[in-house]
Amino acid sequence: MRIIKSKKEIEVMKKAGEVVALTLKKIEEAVKPGVTTLELDRIAEEFIRKCGAIPSFKGYKAAFKSVADFPGSICASINNEVVHGIPGLRVLKDGDIISIDVGACLDGFHGDAARTFAVGKISEEAQRLIDVTKQSFFEGLKNAVNGKRIIDISGAIEDYVVMNGFSVVREFVGHGIGREMHEEPQIPNYRCRGQRSRIEAGMTLAIEPMVNEGTHMVKILDNGWTVVTLDGKLSAHYENTIVVTEDEPLILTRLD
Ligand code: MG
Repeated sequence: MRIIKSKKEIEVMKKAGEVVALTLKKIEEAVKPGVTTLELDRIAEEFIRKCGAIPSFKGYKAAFKSVADFPGSICASINNEVVHGIPGLRVLKDGDIISIDVGACLDGFHGDAARTFAVGKISEEAQRLIDVTKQSFFEGLKNAVNGKRIIDISGAIEDYVVMNGFSVVREFVGHGIGREMHEEPQIPNYRCRGQRSRIEAGMTLAIEPMVNEGTHMVKILDNGWTVVTLDGKLSAHYENTIVVTEDEPLILTRLD
């Protein structure tokens, strides 16, 4: 099912997106060696609530009943952690990379975005992974155009990542977003069957390549949430909420 937003709804989503973008900026400023991921979580939650919004991830229900609801306001995934890292007492070290995923719900609509930040001085290869992941989002975005198909976004991301010698995670995908954090359609970061649906003006989408340094394969830790690379190598994440228009797509979760 496709969900087309009205102009009025898109205006609300712009505001939710701005809260997410500002929260990411606050976190970026706070990321440094010696800081715990729980401290970053506190900064994010306090700021989101100050904006009159609600952290979308806090209390998010797991797919399995045996797993507790997500306890954090952000996902904080370090180095080999791909997504859904739980904020805690782990201390950031010089040379780490950390992926932060932020969701905020304002006046009934969600915004969702992620960035991978460098902690202190990181290796050239880690920086290249971050840069390729970010650029793969923009390659996908070029295809978020009225009349194209979801698979055009997926294929553009996959091609750019593979051309640069990295791999895309398959088990977790981008998604439609609006009144629900996760709406149709799914947006895989690789070509797969079943993503032939058309892109239309008024669709709001979270496009989010998750890119691994080594194998694309991942596993989930015993906490039921945290996804890590199977080979222990690095992973990076870049995501924005966007709206498809009759013209160029608009990014709702970026300040510049
Ligand atoms: Mg998302």
